[in-house]
Amino acid sequence: MINRLEIHNTWNDVVPAWKMVWQDCHDLERWAAFMLQCDRLLALAKEEGLTELEDALRPLAVLLANVKEPGEQQKSAVDLLLPHIFAVVRDACSLAPRRLATTSPIEDDALPLVVMLTPEPDSVQDLLLQMEHYGYAFKVFSNYREGLQAALNLRAVAVVMEIGNGLNASLAQFADQICRKGIKWFAMSRKGDFALRLQAVRHGAQGFFLEPLTINALVDAVDPLAYMAKEDPYRVLALDDSATVLASIQKALEQIPNLSLRTIRQPDLVLETLLDFSPDVLLLDFHMQGCNGLEVAKIIRQNKAFESIPIVYLTSETSEDVQLEAMRHGGDDFLTKPISQAQLVNTVISKAERYRGLRKLMVEDSLTGLFNHIKTKALLQQALLQGERQQLPVCYAILDLDHFKRVNDTYGHTVGDRVLKTLARYLKQRLRRADVVGRYGGEEFVVVFFEASQEQALERLNSIREGFAQIYHAYDEGIFSVTFSAGLAAFPGYTNMMELMVAADNALYAAKRAGRNCVVPASRSGA
Ligand code: GH3
Ligand code: MG
Ligand code: MG
Repeated sequence: MINRLEIHNTWNDVVPAWKMVWQDCHDLERWAAFMLQCDRLLALAKEEGLTELEDALRPLAVLLANVKEPGEQQKSAVDLLLPHIFAVVRDACSLAPRRLATTSPIEDDALPLVVMLTPEPDSVQDLLLQMEHYGYAFKVFSNYREGLQAALNLRAVAVVMEIGNGLNASLAQFADQICRKGIKWFAMSRKGDFALRLQAVRHGAQGFFLEPLTINALVDAVDPLAYMAKEDPYRVLALDDSATVLASIQKALEQIPNLSLRTIRQPDLVLETLLDFSPDVLLLDFHMQGCNGLEVAKIIRQNKAFESIPIVYLTSETSEDVQLEAMRHGGDDFLTKPISQAQLVNTVISKAERYRGLRKLMVEDSLTGLFNHIKTKALLQQALLQGERQQLPVCYAILDLDHFKRVNDTYGHTVGDRVLKTLARYLKQRLRRADVVGRYGGEEFVVVFFEASQEQALERLNSIREGFAQIYHAYDEGIFSVTFSAGLAAFPGYTNMMELMVAADNALYAAKRAGRNCVVPASRSGA
């Protein structure tokens, strides 16, 4: 297995060593310390068989080997190489399947693919049917070579490989090949003894399934892989009055996959851009024409919505007093101009990651990962305002599981929780990105359909209802299925949020009274 922590830690030693060189690039000792850290990273890359990281480090190693009298020129050259290395390190440390930057014939909306390699395809027919309900494409191959090729071509999120009594030479070769391509694989066998598990781990297995493999075990294992792959790109906003600085920021950040940058040159645009773009990090020029970064930061912080967005100052100010003063006024970090591309990339990513993590805690329901009650309401309000502005319909639906108390009473609360998670996952997978899915509490969920008429929302919801009813939920002794009922109300039929919510609630009651497992639209469709 790849030692993510060690790679991460080693990289974390490279960055400060580089910072020291950046501050004084004529100091040989600083270069030596930096080279030492780079060597460690390279050795680790070799040890772990991370060929891509090795490839990324090679030009750096060549450059460093030829440095005799280091100075500004070498410093700039190295700094240009580091962002790409950082991107590769991040990739290697990430649990998510790698995004292949090259040809991408697969749409983002395609169902995540899991490939199963087994000599007995008949034994997994049941999984084949169920995986689709869980929002996965699932392909089974008895010819391992073919299966492997399909996994690579179609960018599978995971491969499950039946390994029987152990990995013989050819299976081991398959396993290594899968790992090298950055795809996660799971071993599967009827036996689960330590020696077998150890062998799988040594060939990079992400997990181990004992047969018979249950749908829950499989979905639980691959969900994090599929979901992390769908993570929104990090958004970075840069405000600087110099086009040259903005261009250099752009150059550094465009090397990071899954990152979206917006740049502005006028301070007075900052609030509306923050609202519109909702960045994870703000890069803020310290000295601008007309006002300074400190003042801009104060204005931003006065706004409740932007209280905690990370602000990184870009400055040519090296005085510690000034820097401290700025940090006291809501800055999170400093990058001194000329900006090191390596440090910029590193700072931006670490700030964005932290901010995302915090925000997640604030807006997510912990069981399902859906938006929580408060956030869902805020998003509904936002959707209605936007609908009004752009004259587009918005639909609001409230879903409630049928006889859910009985599910808990019969199969236990843990199994009940699993059903809630399954519905959450199913809703997310079946709805569009623009739609909002929230858990309103207990066994109630809400969906906000943007730009959908009542008719369209009704059709989609009904198709989801039918699909969900076909999912099996497993408990110790067997399987069962669950249905839900829903009420639906549309803007502009109902014009304000309260009216809309009450109408949907009433429609839900009507659905329950009508016998459950149905969707009832409220009377005013607005069409
Ligand atoms: P109806 O079809 O009329 O909606 O019947 P119901 O049994 O689903 O409705 P009721 O509102 O009486 O019961 C809701 C149940 O949902 C009660 C509670 O046990 C269960 N529930 C609420 N929150 C959770 C949760 O977080 N986990 C689990 N496992 N159960 C929950
Ligand atoms: Mg209820
Ligand atoms: Mg219920």
